[in-house]
Amino acid sequence: MRRPNPILALMAMLACVTAGYPSSFEFAAGASEKQTKWPTRTIQISISNSLTPFAQGIKQGSDVAGAIRRALDSWARVANVAFVEVSSNLQSISPTSAGDGVSLITIAPTPQNLAVFSEGNNTARTRMFYDAVTGAISEADIVINPFPYSVEGTPLQFSTDGSFGTYDLESTLAHEIGHLLGLGHSGVIGSTMQASQGLNGTYGLAAVTERSLSDVDRVAIREVYGPCENQGLVDGKVFNSVDGRLLPINGAHIWLEDSNSGRIVASGRTDLSGAFRIGCIPPATYRAMIEYLDRPTDSMALTGVSAGDYKFGVGGRAFRSVEINTQLQIAADKTTPLNYVFVPPQNALPLLNPRFLGTNGELSTIPVPAGAGTKVTLQVAGEGLDQIPGTGLSVSSPFITVDAASLTLQRFANSPPMISFEVTVGANVPAGDYSIRLQSNSGEVAFLAGGITVNPGP
Ligand SMILES: [Zn+2]
Repeated sequence: MRRPNPILALMAMLACVTAGYPSSFEFAAGASEKQTKWPTRTIQISISNSLTPFAQGIKQGSDVAGAIRRALDSWARVANVAFVEVSSNLQSISPTSAGDGVSLITIAPTPQNLAVFSEGNNTARTRMFYDAVTGAISEADIVINPFPYSVEGTPLQFSTDGSFGTYDLESTLAHEIGHLLGLGHSGVIGSTMQASQGLNGTYGLAAVTERSLSDVDRVAIREVYGPCENQGLVDGKVFNSVDGRLLPINGAHIWLEDSNSGRIVASGRTDLSGAFRIGCIPPATYRAMIEYLDRPTDSMALTGVSAGDYKFGVGGRAFRSVEINTQLQIAADKTTPLNYVFVPPQNALPLLNPRFLGTNGELSTIPVPAGAGTKVTLQVAGEGLDQIPGTGLSVSSPFITVDAASLTLQRFANSPPMISFEVTVGANVPAGDYSIRLQSNSGEVAFLAGGITVNPGP
């Protein structure tokens, strides 16, 4: 599922914090759960005849069939899965109580389909049927919202041509097909599996970054379906030190950046016991980072998480972002341990909370696309950002440099401070997701993991 992304709608964003969703729509993706996975490598997908360029929720003339095919292909290309597309007269997804074994993609405005959107504003949702013991998926139905609307409630449409003010259908499908294959949400902002979808026109640009799978999406799907020969694995546990006790940190986001390029290559999340495991990582040297997720959307993919764990800026489990290993060697066919204990003074609550980013005068939570050989002025807003000097700004890549002297600070009534600064993207920057690193005068560090995306060339 995907939530529409607010543009400078700070209050609307915060209002979403406590929303919860039935498990049938999402995944128990924690490491302690069985990974949901198709038992066969060939998966038949039935395309409802409601999905036409003339459907009400789709801009007329859109290349609907092409968007479906490309979204399926992008996953099939990187993992050992094959999709067989068949057309279907079926209109409605199966009720939670009775799967029919048909994996349907539909946009029909039937009562059954509309019911899944009654709880909130989403562009699409995936309903999974799987064996709770083995994790084997038997059916996954995708319903595209027949009546998509903006954060402000304005009716919208899907399109395939990047038209401003519409949602990109291929991006929506690419994300939902990731769910259909068993993936949960990613904490990497630039990834296809991040939890929110931007409207075309955000930042004055087409929001099509999520059509192309990120490295973290590729690693995640290969970990489930292969191919995974000659790749490495990292696992470990993360604990907080509270009043002399070690408490597992649940739902923390851990990501690995290639030491040479700075590209984010793999990402994972701790489970209830503080454990995490990321497999199928290309052998290389990485920097490993960990951050507290205040993004409510991520809690849906976890089990046993109370809303309190994710309350912004409060709660016992909040912690400051830390670089936990600067030289993590991942070797082929080996497991590399990575354990971490937060001890005082790192145990303090985060004061730096970069929550919105953007460019061209707009803020959102989708990645800022940057082209090779360009200059981009970035904006970041959030609590504590007025404490960052120009020298505290960096992008985790030798290919992307920040002009420290370009830093400016702006304050708005009833909103956290916003900073702007200019970055220069090298001509030979590899495609991928890069993190913005912020360090305050006190030394505290925070990241926007994958906030800058360099899209693959044409
Ligand atoms: Zn989703």
